[in-house]
Amino acid sequence: MTTKSFTKDALIKAADGLRKSYRVFVPVKVGKFHEFKLFEDGDKPDFEYRKTRKSPKGLIFPQSERMLEYSIDEHKPDHHIMKESPKDYSPQVVFGIRPYDAMSFKVMDVNFDTEDYKDPWWIKRYAATTLVGICRNDLDSKMFATENFSGPYDIRGLDVALYDLGDKYIAKSLTEKGEKALAAMGGNDVSAAELAAIEKLTPDTNAPQAAPTDKIKEKVVNDLFDSTMWEDIANGCINCGACTFLCPTCWCFDIQDEIHKREGDRLRIWDSCMFPLYTLHASGHNPRGKKVQRVRNRFMHKIKYYLDKYEKGIMCVGCGRCVEACPVNIDIRRVCELMNNFTK
Ligand code: SF4
Ligand code: SF4
Repeated sequence: MTTKSFTKDALIKAADGLRKSYRVFVPVKVGKFHEFKLFEDGDKPDFEYRKTRKSPKGLIFPQSERMLEYSIDEHKPDHHIMKESPKDYSPQVVFGIRPYDAMSFKVMDVNFDTEDYKDPWWIKRYAATTLVGICRNDLDSKMFATENFSGPYDIRGLDVALYDLGDKYIAKSLTEKGEKALAAMGGNDVSAAELAAIEKLTPDTNAPQAAPTDKIKEKVVNDLFDSTMWEDIANGCINCGACTFLCPTCWCFDIQDEIHKREGDRLRIWDSCMFPLYTLHASGHNPRGKKVQRVRNRFMHKIKYYLDKYEKGIMCVGCGRCVEACPVNIDIRRVCELMNNFTK
């Protein structure tokens, strides 16, 4: 493990310097909101941001990705043969990511990299990504703690942790990838006093409280499924899908073919379990044709099925984006409470 110290200006220069060896993504303010974008000349990264509106999930799991390509032009020797589309797996750094967003990749990884199923595109891009994250006591009131995110100093998803000491950051490498990135970042040696200061950092009184989920594991899945509470929870939902598109741990996707003249692309595109089309079968049958079925599925998947299947907590890092974005104030913390207190 290596530690280095950076003034706030020096940190921006360090991120800039990494561009020689990595594609570097940084938080920048665009209009009213922050978002991660490729660091280019003239960009002004803002590492003091609190939360991006959209999570950085798309940097490893793109919103739209060309998987395969083909030609139906019979004059071509390889017509009707699927070929993998070119992809960029060059090393990338997500610089300034917050710890909850870094943990979200671990939450998703259990779905894309399993013994039975290995998603090559996810695996290669995750392996090529170094997560340099900022640990600071500025979490907002919509956030909450889960097994997969306990607070501002939860560094489990990071390769390098940057501890904010007010006028400077102390960087600590946590993995081999992090060691390599930190070596390329430069920085000053860390004093004993600075090391002691980061050891003393603790979540402040505004640190997120846990949503209650401790009794959900013991509930019988079919009892929860059949509960009448879902009508109440789903009542106001307009199935806009904002919660799922902004969520760093939602992974639903659709596969579509697009043909331009005689050349085709097979695309993987984010989808949402909140949309009726998502589960519509070619026969016309829809197993989740009603709104209440879709809302129930979203929460059962995140809070019960994932927990039962992987035993790694709930499928949520408590970022609060879905709470902020929902136009009808459906709050996952309340749903956790209802499920936790459910009795048949
Ligand atoms: S953001 Fe709210 S209204 Fe929109 S789909 Fe999600 S729960 Fe329903
Ligand atoms: S708080 Fe909402 S948006 Fe954030 S990880 Fe949990 S379910 Fe997803």
